[in-house]
Amino acid sequence: MPEVKEFQAETKQLLNLIINSIYTHKDIFLRELISNASDALDKIRFLSLKDPSILQNDTELQIRIDIDKDNNTLIVEDNGIGMSYEEVIENLGTIAKSGTKNFLNQLKQAQSENTVISLIGQFGVGFYSAFMVAKKVIVETKKWDQDKGVRWESDGTGTYSVEECEKANRGTKITLILKDDLDEDENYLDQYKIQELVKKHSNYIKYPIKMKWEEEVEAGKQKITVKILNSMVPLWNKNKEEITQNEYNEFYKEHFYDWNDPFDVIHFKAEGTTVEFTALLYIPSKLPFTFFSKDYKRGLNLYSKNVFIMENCEEVLPDYLGFVKGLVDSPDFSLNISREILQKNKQLKVIRKNIERKILDALKSKLENEREKYVEFWKEFGKVIKAGLYQNIQEKEKVQDLLLFESSTSDKNMVTLKEYISKMKEDQGNYIYYAVGESKDIIENLPQMESFKEKGYEVLYLTDEIDEFLIKLMHDYEGKEFKSISSSNVKIDEKFKEKEEENKDLLQKIKEYLKDKVKDVRLTDKLKESPACIVSANEAISLNMEKTLKNLEQ
Ligand code: ADP
Ligand code: MG
Repeated sequence: MPEVKEFQAETKQLLNLIINSIYTHKDIFLRELISNASDALDKIRFLSLKDPSILQNDTELQIRIDIDKDNNTLIVEDNGIGMSYEEVIENLGTIAKSGTKNFLNQLKQAQSENTVISLIGQFGVGFYSAFMVAKKVIVETKKWDQDKGVRWESDGTGTYSVEECEKANRGTKITLILKDDLDEDENYLDQYKIQELVKKHSNYIKYPIKMKWEEEVEAGKQKITVKILNSMVPLWNKNKEEITQNEYNEFYKEHFYDWNDPFDVIHFKAEGTTVEFTALLYIPSKLPFTFFSKDYKRGLNLYSKNVFIMENCEEVLPDYLGFVKGLVDSPDFSLNISREILQKNKQLKVIRKNIERKILDALKSKLENEREKYVEFWKEFGKVIKAGLYQNIQEKEKVQDLLLFESSTSDKNMVTLKEYISKMKEDQGNYIYYAVGESKDIIENLPQMESFKEKGYEVLYLTDEIDEFLIKLMHDYEGKEFKSISSSNVKIDEKFKEKEEENKDLLQKIKEYLKDKVKDVRLTDKLKESPACIVSANEAISLNMEKTLKNLEQ
């Protein structure tokens, strides 16, 4: 008797959302199932590198798609690693990822279908997307080291059933009983449609994706062959000139769980004397919503001559560029490379340096040549880059030219530090002025801004919490020191010393009146229309920074 189980509460919610909220992107279910099959094949291939005998006589790793028009079903089958009874329950009955709650909340708040889709893509709810097109899904699977198979079945509503079953071959067979109300262009029983989808989304899967192919050779005479639908040649081994932007983008979406096109693609071969490698790198256009959580995995995938060896290798990617996705293929990697070896590997250091330089160059080039796109990128990733710079301040030269700020004179394209100093006024001294506040509006209304505006000095607006900490740590840019317009010693005229002396009594009175509330009361020439303003007594810390630090303590 099959065991009937309830989906975990979060899974139920998620299924509900997937089934009911996505109407236009159903096609992607096939890519998800193929990519799972490919992952399962990678796993068995990896095991077989150490012990080839575990493949037994089922050695040609492959994916099969079968169309069964009579029964209205589509089948995706692999001879990959398979799943045990417990693994089936664990993998298909629950969403194990710890960010699920957070993810669901974001989903519920999502305003548009595109946002929903992009969130789902990042989260990788892959398998469940089958329920967008199927009224029932049956999974039959056998793990490579087990005698019995497992059968899982569900209609995607509240429950699923599991039971042991007989299965001859290793691997997983997924049967979709298609919904009756699919549109005409969603005919997943049409061989041409399936071929089109595989070519579009799964062309570079490195295992053959095979399907029975029917052709009319003469009137009324059918010929049936088995066709391999994908090209299998890894994209990164092709010449750049032969690759279209679209192919790059599809490859990215296929491999790195994103529904959005990337912001930039970097593809290069290094044939230096020390180490030879090919890298295909992607800068995403949207910050993954898990980025700041421990669910987010940094690093690049490693291949050796097209053979996958490791996922998310952090050693080849500087930490502060952790949002970059991609892969490195080098004939110098050994197949059974371990994390411990990686940490000591000199070649990896060389590769990492190369990769870092290429990414920074690419970003600079975007900044210089496609400013508007770069501004959009900056709005997503600026925080991450600033945090990175903060942590690597000793290497600030590398990154400081990538920074953008809003300022008192900037337009929607914002301003770089280089642009700032090129616009500095002659009598401005050696200072880059900045003001700190929660928003542009708040800063523009600071009393201290008045005299800066009058003199025509540009003032950078620091609106991110990290900004001021970063600016303090940077200290200067090209020898021009950063100076807050609110710090108490922004240069005061000599004449003022006299005035202060004249008004000593008045100042003293105010000070006594305000007693513990202020440290000192002074005259200033920074104000034009407002009668008074508050400044930070401590030169090193601004009012805002004090606020932030207080928040941190709580
Ligand atoms: P993801 O691929 O991001 O892990 P999915 O929802 O696509 O998420 O799949 C969930 C899990 O189910 C996979 O991680 C894997 O462990 C298991 N799984 C899915 N399809 C297969 C398959 N064809 N063979 C083996 N395991 C699979
Ligand atoms: Mg998947």
